[in-house]
Amino acid sequence: MTTVDDMSTDVLILGAGPAGCAAAISARQRGLRVLMLEARPRPGTVPGETLHPGVEPLLARLGVRDAVLAAGFHRHQGIWTAWDGPRRFIAYGAGDDGPWRGFQADRARLHAILIDAAQAAGATLLRPAVPTDILRRGQAVAGVRTADKTINATDVLDATGRHAWLARALNLAPSYFSPPLRLRFGWRDAGRDDDPDEPAIDARPAGWDWRAPLGSGRVAWVSLRANTPSQAAASFRWRLYEDCAGPGYMLLGDAAALLDPASSHGVLRALMSGMLAAHMIAARQHGLLAADAAADNYRRWVHEQFSNDVAALRALYARHPDPATRLALCGAT
Ligand SMILES: Cc1cc2nc3c(=O)[nH]c(=O)nc-3n(C[C@H](O)[C@H](O)[C@H](O)COP(=O)(O)OP(=O)(O)OC[C@H]3O[C@@H](n4cnc5c(N)ncnc54)[C@H](O)[C@@H]3O)c2cc1C
Repeated sequence: MTTVDDMSTDVLILGAGPAGCAAAISARQRGLRVLMLEARPRPGTVPGETLHPGVEPLLARLGVRDAVLAAGFHRHQGIWTAWDGPRRFIAYGAGDDGPWRGFQADRARLHAILIDAAQAAGATLLRPAVPTDILRRGQAVAGVRTADKTINATDVLDATGRHAWLARALNLAPSYFSPPLRLRFGWRDAGRDDDPDEPAIDARPAGWDWRAPLGSGRVAWVSLRANTPSQAAASFRWRLYEDCAGPGYMLLGDAAALLDPASSHGVLRALMSGMLAAHMIAARQHGLLAADAAADNYRRWVHEQFSNDVAALRALYARHPDPATRLALCGAT
């Protein structure tokens, strides 16, 4: 006979990627009990190595900056762009300490650092573990069931990335902001004559190609194309869950808002969303903020970030050399 454990926590986080770990560490920094469920038995290889320099202060706030620096990830100072004119190098900028530099972070290593930090801060991680059902308290989300546990929580955070498990389980309806897009990605050995020395994005008919040197003799590549309707199967669209915060729940990172990688800071956005969600929940659970205000503030921030990012992406695609791409992605000819 299987026994079902009853557990309870202040914050239950579904998914231990950047958004989930940032929320876990931030909630622990504010004294809340945290339980995390992660589907994967261990961090795996996922695309998205290029981290914007803006992540560095966030990593410091999360207490993992030194561990990330010690990992020795390749650093870069900007991006080669062949888009609306000859190829040019767009540097991130510079401060008193020299040029701003991003990271080419192996994502499995980055996730391992974040998970270690969350556990060291006192979060409990169950993995592999996935939710099967939602528990409710009236209209509010009050926890989840797994195959062998009932977990009661004051707040449940969906950090399951593009799967958006809780959003789907709640039957929330996403709003879409782009046509279907097809992403392919992979890794290969470096050494081709045209391999860039810094990440590079090249406009292509119906989309773009991306290559990023990872600094260990490897190159990551990503290719995005606007799909024809017959190719809709393996596609995604820019997506926002407008109800990304409600009674007992918040959606974080890609679960709340999904854009194409040309927006260039999915990990940064995921970290920020986790930190802000934890801040709002702690303020509410400590009686410093009304329930509605915490959800409203978080929802407003997600909407604002998303519409800024959509505007920036549309401005980028409005300069795309291919008229069909301009038409598909920003309605401009
Ligand atoms: C091809 C590609 C290239 C990209 N390139 C970049 C880039 O260069 N730079 C950048 O900043 N961003 C990039 N991105 C975007 C970036 O990867 C995401 O925005 C970021 O990973 C979002 O973080 P997250 O924590 O919300 O979700 P994720 O990183 O997807 O983490 C979700 C976690 O939840 C777990 N999970 C899923 N379902 C469940 C479940 N039911 N129960 C429990 N756990 C679950 C997963 O195993 C995972 O650990 C890229 C994306 C793609 C697809």
